[in-house]
Amino acid sequence: MKIPKRYFAVGTAVIATVTVAAFATPASGGAREAVVRADQAAAAAAGAQALVASRPQMLMSSPGEDYVRGSVITADALSYVPYERTYRGIPVIGGDFVVVANAAGKVLFTSVAQESRIGTIGTSPSVSRAAAEAIAGQQLVSVSGLETTRLVVFALGGPARLAWQTTVVGKGAQGPSRLTVVVDALTGKVLDQLEHVMSGTGNGNWEGTVTIATTSSGGTFFMSSPTTSNMPCQDAATNTTFSGPDDIWGNGVGTNRETGCVDAFYGAETEATMLSTWLGRNGMNGSGGAWPIRVGLNDLNAFYNGVEVQIGHNSAGAWIGATDVIAHEMGHGIDDTTPGGISRNGTQEFVADVFGAATETFANNPNDPPDFLVGEEVNLVGSGPIRNMYNPSLLGDPNCYSKRVAHQEVHAAAGPGNHWFYLAAIGSNAPGQPVSPTCNGSTVTGIGVQKTVQIFYNAMLMKTTQSSYPKYRLWTLQAAKNLFPGSCTEFDAIKAAWNAVSVPAQPGEATCP
Ligand SMILES: [Zn+2]
Repeated sequence: MKIPKRYFAVGTAVIATVTVAAFATPASGGAREAVVRADQAAAAAAGAQALVASRPQMLMSSPGEDYVRGSVITADALSYVPYERTYRGIPVIGGDFVVVANAAGKVLFTSVAQESRIGTIGTSPSVSRAAAEAIAGQQLVSVSGLETTRLVVFALGGPARLAWQTTVVGKGAQGPSRLTVVVDALTGKVLDQLEHVMSGTGNGNWEGTVTIATTSSGGTFFMSSPTTSNMPCQDAATNTTFSGPDDIWGNGVGTNRETGCVDAFYGAETEATMLSTWLGRNGMNGSGGAWPIRVGLNDLNAFYNGVEVQIGHNSAGAWIGATDVIAHEMGHGIDDTTPGGISRNGTQEFVADVFGAATETFANNPNDPPDFLVGEEVNLVGSGPIRNMYNPSLLGDPNCYSKRVAHQEVHAAAGPGNHWFYLAAIGSNAPGQPVSPTCNGSTVTGIGVQKTVQIFYNAMLMKTTQSSYPKYRLWTLQAAKNLFPGSCTEFDAIKAAWNAVSVPAQPGEATCP
């Protein structure tokens, strides 16, 4: 298994070498669009590079640092230029930042993870690599493998430390685990742990008769997407893609694995279409691809782990790949492959639920209507949905933000964020929709799911390793302002929704007008 290259995901050019295609022969349709996008990305890269070269105060620079630019991400007229930092050639965890630019390459905003300078630190470890790997392994119940170990500078809060970063695979207290552990290279203390296994929930079955796009070769059909690479639907027992002599799939029986794949594959393809239609994102990973979907996990659960999505069963034995479940798991993958990686401080499950709800809304399938409940179709343990976005407290999760949310169990911690999403998209008292009680007694008018997820996705493109609810407030307000420059309606709704779930105003947040 290969560790996803979170910290150096893309590109290694410190100096931008850009090919400007502005004078290419005018082409039609998609080709012209690609030329414009390349032009826009090049302008953004140049604008960001000029800013970074001037070493502005906000970068918290120290001698010995270099800034490594990743691939520019474009979303409509906006461009996001992600950077990683090295200190004397060593990758810095928490040194990341994103420069946001408009179509002309003018810098609009800079999102910087680091909150203090590294200063001067030694680069010789006194704890050995092997000792650090052993300490990492001790964080699991049992270890089945070791992926990669590297020396890093850890700068995520507190003074920067020289550290070993190791990824171990095996079984944790909560089940399957791929855990990245950061161990202080001078003291052996565990500084940070990041779990890559994102547990979801703890003829199609849930989705009814649906249309799926498949591939065929030599007279055999495969449940594999013709437009999104690396997204087959497979039997988890053998990792074999479902195939057959015709393009007819499943039998409508929920315990049948091929049927389970129909639901999951339909939901995943719908999500990919939503991403391209609403958000201008190409595939779950941003470069046209995703991860294999495997139905057959022997657990009341589903998960994403950076390598695959596994779908388990409910208490009646039916596979649980309904649209909101598969779109949630793939949502973890979107989070994983946007700047800053998997969201932190209690926001990771909120991010995934937003993609579940947005996909369910986009699908608008009468067999699985958009409802802002999570897992209502699959009825995981026989007691209905597992989360409620318009009133999280009805299922025991917090409606309102407080500092302790960052330390709560990650699914419970989704409460305030899910509540924010519903209020921003639908509102507190929308006709024909469930009432959503606000934490400050206010009335919030929604701006629709499409605009809200568009703002949210653009906020994710400003994400750093220092993500949190307060940061998402800051980033979504900036995104609303950037995306809708001539209007304050969207900005005001986003802000009113954060106020309504008690996430307070942040230093440096945008204002409108
Ligand atoms: Zn999840």
